[in-house]
Amino acid sequence: MGDPNLTRDETSRRAATISVHSYLVELDLAAADDHDLPGFATTTTLAFSASAPDTWLDFLGDSVEAVTINGESVAVQFDGARIALTGLRAENVVTVAATGRYSRSGEGLHRFRDPADGATYLYTQYEPADARRVFAGFEQPDLKAPFTFVVGAPEAWTVVSNQVAAQRSTNGGVQTVRFEPTVAISTYITAIVVGPYHFVESNWSRDELNVPLQVLCRASLANYLDADAIFEVTKQGLDFYADNFDYPYPFGKYDQVFVPEYNLGAMENPGCVTFTEAYVFRGAATQAQFEGRANTILHEMAHMWFGDLVTMRWWDDLWLKESFADYMGAEASSVATRFTDAWVAFANRRKAWAYLQDQLPTTHPIVADITDLEAAKLNFDGITYAKGASVLKQLVAYVGRDAFFEGCRRYFRAHAFGNTTLDDLLTELSATSGRDLTAWARAWLQTSGVSTLALEDNVIVQTDPRPHRLAVGCYDFDDEGRLVLSGRTEVDLVAARTPIELPDAALVLLNDADLTYAKVRLDERSLRTVESSLDRLADPLARGLIWSALWNATRDGELGVQRYLRIVRDFAPAEANSALLSSALANAVAAVEHYVPKSELAAARHDWLDATWTSLTEAEPGSDAQLAWARALSAAASTDAGRSSEIRALLDGETVLEGLPLDPDLRWLLWSALAATGHANVDDLDAELVRDDTAAGRTFRLRCLRARPDAEVKQNAWEAVFADTSLSNDHLDATIAGFRAGGRRDLIADYDGQYFASLRRVWSERSIEIARRIVLGLFPGSDSVEPVDEWLAGNGDASAALRRLVVEQRDHLTREIRVRAFNRSVV
Ligand SMILES: [Zn+2]
Repeated sequence: MGDPNLTRDETSRRAATISVHSYLVELDLAAADDHDLPGFATTTTLAFSASAPDTWLDFLGDSVEAVTINGESVAVQFDGARIALTGLRAENVVTVAATGRYSRSGEGLHRFRDPADGATYLYTQYEPADARRVFAGFEQPDLKAPFTFVVGAPEAWTVVSNQVAAQRSTNGGVQTVRFEPTVAISTYITAIVVGPYHFVESNWSRDELNVPLQVLCRASLANYLDADAIFEVTKQGLDFYADNFDYPYPFGKYDQVFVPEYNLGAMENPGCVTFTEAYVFRGAATQAQFEGRANTILHEMAHMWFGDLVTMRWWDDLWLKESFADYMGAEASSVATRFTDAWVAFANRRKAWAYLQDQLPTTHPIVADITDLEAAKLNFDGITYAKGASVLKQLVAYVGRDAFFEGCRRYFRAHAFGNTTLDDLLTELSATSGRDLTAWARAWLQTSGVSTLALEDNVIVQTDPRPHRLAVGCYDFDDEGRLVLSGRTEVDLVAARTPIELPDAALVLLNDADLTYAKVRLDERSLRTVESSLDRLADPLARGLIWSALWNATRDGELGVQRYLRIVRDFAPAEANSALLSSALANAVAAVEHYVPKSELAAARHDWLDATWTSLTEAEPGSDAQLAWARALSAAASTDAGRSSEIRALLDGETVLEGLPLDPDLRWLLWSALAATGHANVDDLDAELVRDDTAAGRTFRLRCLRARPDAEVKQNAWEAVFADTSLSNDHLDATIAGFRAGGRRDLIADYDGQYFASLRRVWSERSIEIARRIVLGLFPGSDSVEPVDEWLAGNGDASAALRRLVVEQRDHLTREIRVRAFNRSVV
């Protein structure tokens, strides 16, 4: 098979010789509900100019039946990834008739059968380069063109694409829908959604512009779809962007579709945004979950301008759209919706992702060097999104909000329907701010790594010096015992050491207000104040920064893990911000499993389990906290069976915790815990499936079955991961999660050798999405990096993307070993 890994150089050369006028893509999905048929007919007709006689089209499918160039049928030259085109003229019309394959990995045209009602649902997901799994084309972001889609499908189904339908005809139970041509867009944001989707309609208008809105999901989830809440945020976002961008929404209508077995949070297909179904809440959801969904809605909407209207030339500048959308997700949430605390979750959770990634040996500048598609695929990471957004937030503070938005408006007007690089944005921002941004870009966009800031004897010390605008907050107790801001000093840091005069204070917080991007340490006195009084601090952003500082110090082996866990046990029960609570609870489990010395592990698991049980039973009935603690209990109970009878009593209804909604998802989480400790059998799980025979229920059941602590179960799970290529993306995840459940290293350590022996085969035989899940999900949590180093030494010629994943896992393991050693020395 030909190489599906396109490089920057070859696509750049292709773009220099090709200019695409239009695509007509015809897809025959009339028999899509017959799952015995693996493929579908796809025909592409492209009109384009060419300044060279030869080029190629990208296609990853079963076969190519016919190629016509300028009216003449030519011999098919298809190597499995590319279709060679020869004898081109200045102007060409090329038609390719081919057979594509339905996807089960979430890449390309994904097909899913709903076990609740047997209905079939399809949707596409392409970024960065999977449109070629559905139709032949020039798969690169800078060859934009208008697309016309024609889709054949069963008559009763909903058929949605980027544009509205222009014509619909029916014949013998089959409908053929021809959509209006799109404006010029890149291949990776085209989209088709087909199936008996449930939909709700609304609309938004401003002046002359009317935008029809739809929200869609599977019919079996219709009861759970809170379309009004989704429309509310959608309209608030459209208002916000209309006010701030001053460029009318360019794509006509705006559909938002919640799709099954989705590989990511959401995708910004213009006019047809797709989202994970995890955002259709089947049971109780916390404020943090609603806030996260609003943030994603607004992130994707920002892409309509940044990414879709103006698109990066190649994946090096992926950050141009992702940093911007990430920034806007939080900014629009905090300004235009009820989620006014959006920057708190950003400071605490989103930036944690960036700090983590930025300390790996594979970290990279925000403006990355992406030489090919495999590298592009791995670059949807914490640097591109969260560090980029943090740095944009700094830039807004630096040039001012007005200059920033005015720069954006000029950028949209100058580059609408085109492609750009970093310089194009900096040109506009420099013009509106009157500042030369070259030095800023060099310091923040073209370097990698994160500084650590600490206060030592009235000097702010920073590792890895960079220019920062920093606020230092001093907090003291007021007459009622509350910890309140008593003074804030802003200071510009440039060098490694910056002297600062501060008043005496119980708590000094570096990076107060979260102006910059840096890890900060608490001095010993401030740490003691936190240990006695974190709950006295009313400001959620300050608490979020403190929770972050504590977690970073724990991960770095500077704060003892038992001291960290004590703070979580003492103050998480009082944490009023739902996003901060859920991240503190997730970090606590990670701290127990990764950073506690092995000799103390059993006791630490037991203490944490008891803390979750106690906090659950003491939480206010019906509160977010009660739900968050119930989820934390299920995680803790999967490694310690000490509360299995209490959990069983909850599931059986013998114990009722007032206000706690035992919805299907929470019930399955509790079953997962029982299964992992050997306290749930197949009959229990089958009975639960009778209560919840849905797609989610079946996935949970599979995970529970694979979680049982039994050597044969693990053997079967292992074989399924490697041999059962019919497993969908979600079922593969469930199998891997089950295999690893319970922290039972004794049951799975024997597979370490097979893991390393299989890596290259997995990488070459499976799609990158599936291979990545296997490589990360099954990486051995052993006590030694020796086998990893052996593999790296013997596989210097393996794919750079595969090596990157292994090197990152090695770094996590090295950190665990180092931090556990540090904690052995802490008394
Ligand atoms: Zn995005």
